[in-house]
Amino acid sequence: MTDLNERIELAGALRCYLEELQDTGVDSLPLAAQETLENIRTGLGDCRRCRLCETRKSIVFGVGSNNAKVLFVGEAPGRDEDLQGEPFVGEAGQLLSKMIKAMGYTRDEVYICNLLKCRPPENRNPETEEIAACSPFLLRQVESIAPKAIVTLGTFASQTLLDSRDPISRLRGRFHDYHGIPLMPTFHPAFLLRSPEKKREAWEDLQKVMKRMLE
Ligand code: SF4
Repeated sequence: MTDLNERIELAGALRCYLEELQDTGVDSLPLAAQETLENIRTGLGDCRRCRLCETRKSIVFGVGSNNAKVLFVGEAPGRDEDLQGEPFVGEAGQLLSKMIKAMGYTRDEVYICNLLKCRPPENRNPETEEIAACSPFLLRQVESIAPKAIVTLGTFASQTLLDSRDPISRLRGRFHDYHGIPLMPTFHPAFLLRSPEKKREAWEDLQKVMKRMLE
């Protein structure tokens, strides 16, 4: 895990360096070996590393740009996502799409995935051993994309990436450092559907991410 974390940090630093080079007119370099999202998905295969494989219909890996500047990480697929094999396509997904659009992006320009790639039965909370089995693949996705910012949606993704037990209400609203990548925790869209009065706070969080993208 330590090696992996170091590689994530290195990928973020490398991205900044390449952007600086680009600003000085350098527009091509010899290809460096970096794990692609396609390779990570191939390695996941017909995963049976935790018991969620027994009830899932699809492995929901992630969608969007391999070079996304903003990476959104949710909790786990729900019923619609399990059926369609794509993250955030149900009612909460439609709200996330609106939030992404309000930030000035399309779904194709960002990357969207979940902490768990398979649906927990009845949308119950992820269990510790499921997170332990699946989260290495999320960390490899982060390493491959090397985004400029990560937005974690809800408690489980935020606590796992930040290795914290603090509630989302305490984590949200400010950037945390994730191996050199700014990470903004905010409320999960499914929670916002149940508590629309919290949408304003979520929007404030996303505005901070937009501002960071301009720096
Ligand atoms: S949740 Fe992750 S670790 Fe568990 S079976 Fe699905 S892909 Fe594998």
